[in-house]
Amino acid sequence: MKFASRLVCFDPAPGDRFRPMSTPIYQTATFEQEQTDSCGEYEYSRSGNPTRAVLEKHLAALENGTRGFCFSSGMAAIATVTKLLRCGDEILADSDLYGGTCRLFSKVIDRGGIIAHYADARSPEQFESRVTPRTRLIFAESPTNPLMRVIDLRKMAAIAHAHDALLCVDNSAMSPYLQNPLDLGADIVLHSATKFLCGHHDVTAGAIVVKDEALAEQICFAQNAEGSALSPFDSFLLLRGIKTLKLRVDCQQRTAQSIARFLASHQGIKQVYYPGLSESSDYELQRSQARGPGSVLSFTTDSVEVSKAIAECARFFHIAVSFGGVNSSIGLPGTMSHASVPSELQAARNLPPDLVRISVGIEDEEDLIADLDQAIHRAISIQ
Ligand SMILES: *Cc1c(COP(=O)(O)O)cnc(C)c1O
Repeated sequence: MKFASRLVCFDPAPGDRFRPMSTPIYQTATFEQEQTDSCGEYEYSRSGNPTRAVLEKHLAALENGTRGFCFSSGMAAIATVTKLLRCGDEILADSDLYGGTCRLFSKVIDRGGIIAHYADARSPEQFESRVTPRTRLIFAESPTNPLMRVIDLRKMAAIAHAHDALLCVDNSAMSPYLQNPLDLGADIVLHSATKFLCGHHDVTAGAIVVKDEALAEQICFAQNAEGSALSPFDSFLLLRGIKTLKLRVDCQQRTAQSIARFLASHQGIKQVYYPGLSESSDYELQRSQARGPGSVLSFTTDSVEVSKAIAECARFFHIAVSFGGVNSSIGLPGTMSHASVPSELQAARNLPPDLVRISVGIEDEEDLIADLDQAIHRAISIQ
């Protein structure tokens, strides 16, 4: 089956005698047991719920894994992955990471004696030199956010496995439609399902997919023990969002490609960061491991004031964190989504203060380009 079919062709309600075409919301916390010493398939919704089970199975299939797990947010999913480690273990992460992930690594799990180190994964040899005998987990996103740097995931997997560590890839920026990290050698793929998977700005959710059964059992245990699983209603919304993933991403990506071209040739723009531009140094690597460049891109203007004014003058692009939804958004990562990055790491990452990130939605392409054009002209003229 091709991907478009796989998105909608699955059993939406296993065993349901009414054969609904949409997955029912099993809005129940507990399930009656037949006897005191045995229960049916479900017992308590923290441990398992039929609506969530359909979603988890569906996502596992879309990521070419065997088991999936859904959480109340992307951060809850990432926090669960860190539960695979114990005191004294280390994480080696790429230095261009989602701000909330840095915060979790630097200010929460350190209390349990797990230490995160950061290195630039764009130079795999240098990155590997930072691996220590205590490194248990290698963590990366690709393309990174907001600089849209592409990381060679096959090389990351080889490094992890040469040192007896696991590779976890945060695939939020690509979605399973554009990239399948498990096929490239990753052990764990995770998503902020709040982004492309949901796609409609109405759910915060996270997902983990693995292939290895022993790993799956550990994650299943943590999900139940910590109580961070996704609710039945949010599972339903996410299931509904996923059905249109390909339609949305095809449209968003096509428009993003045109916008990147438009910005790259605009006089008021200094640099465009988007692996879909053939002049990008990441173009070939992206093509070798993903099926498209996605619909998030960033650019600089040489002036923080101009960048701020562009965001404030745009009308179709809403000033909002997050990406991947049907509406376009714009923001300055330095002051918004990445403000949670510890300042010493911000400096090491060299995030340009005038960097503007946009997420392209499903609005009309001409409307979006005209909007950016007027916003850039106004932003320059009011300085
Ligand atoms: C948004 C995001 C997260 C966190 O997900 P939430 O659903 O907001 O908790 C993690 N990783 C990446 C790459 C993200 O963009």
